[in-house]
Amino acid sequence: MSPMLDLSAISGIVGGLKAASELVQLAVNAHDVKVIREKAIEFQKDIIAAQTSAISTLTDYASALDRIRELEKEVNDLKAWGAEKEKYQLTEISEHPQGSALVFALKDQAGSTEPKHRLCPNCYQDGRKSILQEEVQSLGHVRILHCQRCGAEVNRSGIRYKENVPRKPSRRPR
Ligand SMILES: [Zn+2]
Repeated sequence: MSPMLDLSAISGIVGGLKAASELVQLAVNAHDVKVIREKAIEFQKDIIAAQTSAISTLTDYASALDRIRELEKEVNDLKAWGAEKEKYQLTEISEHPQGSALVFALKDQAGSTEPKHRLCPNCYQDGRKSILQEEVQSLGHVRILHCQRCGAEVNRSGIRYKENVPRKPSRRPR
């Protein structure tokens, strides 16, 4: 499939139109209805082929336009994300002395009016902005940042015992 018109499709359409115009010419000139009928049957095949060709060319063209729109949207999203991602920096948020829990946090100097928030590092690498939500579990001893998009969890403080914390399946990433 290509946005360019298919040459064989065009020659099919031209052939069909030629057959149709020849038939009209013949009808104007001929006085014998039987000759016209015979020619009409002969040309019918060409006309049907031309119609089929025209329809398939238009369908290809419409698909190509759809694809172009999709790609334009992707390019615009990537451009927007390229600017947006610069507002965040990789930040350590673990409260364990030896712990490591990295997320992307909104920079102080980003000039954003949004409340302070942190982004999921997995989704960030995928070019998606997904805000982490904080959850407190096990009677306040465990604090977790949870990504609604990919299901990632970042343990900020406390020790988790996963078997005690049944979790609903996360929404599948888009
Ligand atoms: Zn995520």
